[in-house]
Amino acid sequence: MSGGMEASPAGGAAPDYLARLNAEQREAVESLDGPLLVLAGAGTGKTRVLTTRFAHLLMTQRAFPGQVLSVTFTNKAAREMRERVSAILGRPAEGLWLGTFHALCARMLRRHAELVGLTSGFTILDTDDQMRLLKQVMDAAGIDLKRWPAQGLMAQVQRWKDRGIAPDRVTPAEDTDYAGGRARALYAAYQSRLRDLNCADFGDLMLHMVEILRGHPEVLADWHRRFRYILVDEYQDTNLVQYLWLRLLAQGHRNICCVGDDDQSIYSWRGAEIENILRFEKDFPNARVVRLESNYRSTKPILGAASGLIAHNSGRLGKTLRTGRNDADGDKVRVVSLWDSEEEARMVGERIEAAQRSGHKLAEIAILVRAGFQTRAFEERLITLGVPYRVVGGLKFYERAEIRDAMAYLRVLAQPADDLAFERIVNTPKRGLGDTAMRKMHEIARAERIPLTMAAAKLVQGGGLAGKAKMALSELLHGFARWREGLPREGHVVVAATLLDESGYTDMWKHDKSPEAPGRLDNLKEFIRALGEFETLAGFLEHVALVMETDENSNGDRLSLMTLHAAKGLEFDMVFLPGWEEGLFPHSRAMEEGGEKGLEEERRLAYVGLTRARKQAIVSAAANRRIYGNWSSSIPSRFLDELPAEHVQREGSTGMARNRVVDMPSVFTGAGGLMARKPRTIEAGAWEVQARPAHAEPLQVGDRVFHKKFGYGTVTSVDDNRVDVDFEKSDPKRVMDSFLERA
Ligand code: ATP
Ligand code: MG
Repeated sequence: MSGGMEASPAGGAAPDYLARLNAEQREAVESLDGPLLVLAGAGTGKTRVLTTRFAHLLMTQRAFPGQVLSVTFTNKAAREMRERVSAILGRPAEGLWLGTFHALCARMLRRHAELVGLTSGFTILDTDDQMRLLKQVMDAAGIDLKRWPAQGLMAQVQRWKDRGIAPDRVTPAEDTDYAGGRARALYAAYQSRLRDLNCADFGDLMLHMVEILRGHPEVLADWHRRFRYILVDEYQDTNLVQYLWLRLLAQGHRNICCVGDDDQSIYSWRGAEIENILRFEKDFPNARVVRLESNYRSTKPILGAASGLIAHNSGRLGKTLRTGRNDADGDKVRVVSLWDSEEEARMVGERIEAAQRSGHKLAEIAILVRAGFQTRAFEERLITLGVPYRVVGGLKFYERAEIRDAMAYLRVLAQPADDLAFERIVNTPKRGLGDTAMRKMHEIARAERIPLTMAAAKLVQGGGLAGKAKMALSELLHGFARWREGLPREGHVVVAATLLDESGYTDMWKHDKSPEAPGRLDNLKEFIRALGEFETLAGFLEHVALVMETDENSNGDRLSLMTLHAAKGLEFDMVFLPGWEEGLFPHSRAMEEGGEKGLEEERRLAYVGLTRARKQAIVSAAANRRIYGNWSSSIPSRFLDELPAEHVQREGSTGMARNRVVDMPSVFTGAGGLMARKPRTIEAGAWEVQARPAHAEPLQVGDRVFHKKFGYGTVTSVDDNRVDVDFEKSDPKRVMDSFLERA
């Protein structure tokens, strides 16, 4: 932290930590009694106000550390607060109630578990277990899971929980027509099943605690006695159940201080309700509202660019934001146009190296992406350059579950004797192969000293399996034979994509309604794209093995790579914001699902991104992205046009693509169109690894086709070179067009 005579208060006798605040911040810190709302733009010191307020509470002996409840959004803020408090105490702070909503609630719930029919040792279920349990409950109720996928109910249950609605509070108006109006009953059955098993799902942590505080005045009074002060960061992203919990706890002393910024509300898809800000003033009449208007984080151009962008949103609460920094005239925001995502990764890599050479620490540099799959290109580049990095709030690309699964499929494809890989995928997606089937397979393998794949084949032939499991396993083994045979003809990229589809793996995620599923599918597409960068399957597999190996165990200086969502509250000297292209950012899914509201949330996300930067923000857009070995062109994000010109310096690098035999589409000319990203195939030059095994004439809807495995059918839709076919003797499927013949 900097020296801090930025705004010395009159009199000068204030403790050092107060001297480091401006007048409004000081007001927010020193107004200790009664409800307080700090509503202010990015980088105005809201989090600093919260940490200082905690310190001030202790210094003025208003509270002991354990009497302050603080809800923070990032681990960094929690750590800072803990350090600050420890420094004041002169010893490590213990027994602090400091953390995320869920962590705090879990801790409280352990003390009162019996009030909701659990014991204090209850298990917190992960999503997989939740889903399994929900399916059991639905099965027991005789629900046709094909007609009513469990994911739909799961999402509904989550929505109810986010809004603090236990089964007995679901009103007819809240009910849905899911499963013929049985959603509420199934929800009740699921909750009762959880109780029997002494389990709570994630949403239960909040829901149960709210129910307990509502229904047990003596418990509530107890917590009121304990928590004299409540501090809440990133208040704009609380959902209803979190709000209810806070309101209940704050009723006692009414010393609740919430800080937030309506322009940074980016979690509506997780149930966050911006209305909670408006509700605050109603529920806590006479609440003091403090506005902070000086931004201490970013240079003038960065702030100007971010403010200009967010001004395009309607329905804002409205705030003034000016720079509070002395070095206000910093670098303009760079907007760099590039040929493709690889070149984008190269540009970022070069600038990072240059920054390192001029003495910047990696810890002060971040790459913030809109979608998880985007990290792959940067990770590969950073590894090549030997730049240590961490993926904050997530896994490195090749460590993600779906990528490990896909890798396992390819390993079996390349090397049928890879038992570990085969074991990973043989029952993923579920093929009805339980423990018994697996044991039999292993017994055969051990007895005959053969690989598992061969043992599996023997198991199928020998009649050791029956019914669906036998069919499914047999189909998988035949699949591998077919895909392997297709390799020389179709090439590894096409075969890999086909394999993931035909094995049912892609469908597994398509049918998954969890919020992560679409991101996983995007990762799989990116995986295929990565594959296309290699001449052979073996080359790719070796590359990934080596990449996985370079897991530096150093705690040294590292660059941060993360999604924009994970970057909230953080700051860096230099921030890269790649992939500002229509469809990717703003993300097409957000707009399809949320319309104009979705677009505004995307814009807030862009605002969050820009305002993470202290000194330099580098935004970029690639004109092309490779998809399944083909090119699709992109339109630059409309957000680029919304950045005020006076704060932006535009740079192009089309020259770098000169030696390529590809026609540069003029996507950067008619910029700013409102069209969604539209894929378009471009004939690529000889440097492209995977030539497209094209049909002379592209297939069209209505064409009758023949597929070696699925037989005759009719094309129902065409998505680049992937085609949906309504087969006559088999379920409708999506297949690669190269596997189809015109019939
Ligand atoms: P965000 O909306 O992104 O969460 P914030 O409002 O919480 O931002 P902080 O992270 O608290 O802002 O502060 C932004 C930066 O400005 C930090 O580096 C902080 O140390 C610095 N800062 C805050 N107040 C002052 C001040 N009065 N003088 C100097 N620097 C300050
Ligand atoms: Mg903050």
